[in-house]
Amino acid sequence: MLKQKKNLIVLLISLTLTLFIGCFNSSSLNNNSNSSNSEHPESTKILPPEQTPNFALPIDCNLDQDCFIMHYVDLDPSSQVLDFGCGRQTYDGHKGTDFGISDLELMKVGFPVLASATGTVLRTRDGIADELVDNSQKKQAVTNKECGNGVVIDHGNGWETQYCHLHRGSIVVEPNTEVEQGTILGMVGSSGLASFPHVHLSIRKNGQVIDPFVGINTNAGCNQPHHSLWLESLYYTPTGLIRAGFASQPPTQTELWSGLYKNNQLSADIPALIFWVHVYGVLEGDVEKWQLIAPNGKVVFNQDSMLERSYRSWLGYTGKRKIFPGVWQGEYQLWRDQSLVFQVNREVLVN
Ligand SMILES: [Zn+2]
Repeated sequence: MLKQKKNLIVLLISLTLTLFIGCFNSSSLNNNSNSSNSEHPESTKILPPEQTPNFALPIDCNLDQDCFIMHYVDLDPSSQVLDFGCGRQTYDGHKGTDFGISDLELMKVGFPVLASATGTVLRTRDGIADELVDNSQKKQAVTNKECGNGVVIDHGNGWETQYCHLHRGSIVVEPNTEVEQGTILGMVGSSGLASFPHVHLSIRKNGQVIDPFVGINTNAGCNQPHHSLWLESLYYTPTGLIRAGFASQPPTQTELWSGLYKNNQLSADIPALIFWVHVYGVLEGDVEKWQLIAPNGKVVFNQDSMLERSYRSWLGYTGKRKIFPGVWQGEYQLWRDQSLVFQVNREVLVN
């Protein structure tokens, strides 16, 4: 079969689906009505005057292994977008940093949300369902509760952090209690206006959003010296793999965020074998290199394709009809300016 070229015609669908990828940046959680710092003057004693806190990661995970930064703070006050790395891995008006995990199945395993700094819990909200908001109807349903299940912490001297989209029923702290840096607040979820499981962290000083990658007392623009507020060194990683695998039909992003297509075994009866990649932060001009390798070692599909526009979240796939049993391999590389950004290999047993 493979010797005949016509039978090698492979269904290539390098299709992009951009979904609404969002999360909300509310400065309020309305379960508890009091929102003024002035009601917690005692919290100012936590820090000496003028001391700037350092912030730890708000999630217990291995960054760039089992979690990733999906969106940064939008530094552009206009309708354009700009992240601190002079890139575009943010969206208009985004007031925080989104730490994502690959899917809802992983969410059920449980990733703790941690207090980024010592302080006093001001407000919490829980009870909102974890959903993947991917259409206007679902968006409408979370009006005024866009942050979902959340926590706000006062760190004194006007510093405040807010954690959004926690897993329903997971919040374990209460208002007016002290937390240490690293205290578990709850678990990562997808509640409120979230189209993927993540924790959104907003940092504010006297009500103004501060990008922790930029710090305070810096000049506007992305090409300026930064004074990171992070406790640890974090690298700008605007592009990376969310997940990759095989399916028997073209997947959707919502299905991938849900955690579908984790099987590494498929029946030979399937109509087509689809090799897919779910990637964050692709840019116009990036080149994807695809290979599909049959159980006999023969490369049955080998193609490069250039992306025609940028996407914060990207789903690409390729596939082949008329497959036969054995271990199939997919290889994917993403290239930018003639440099390899990342590559991923996956195998599936067809039987
Ligand atoms: Zn966010």
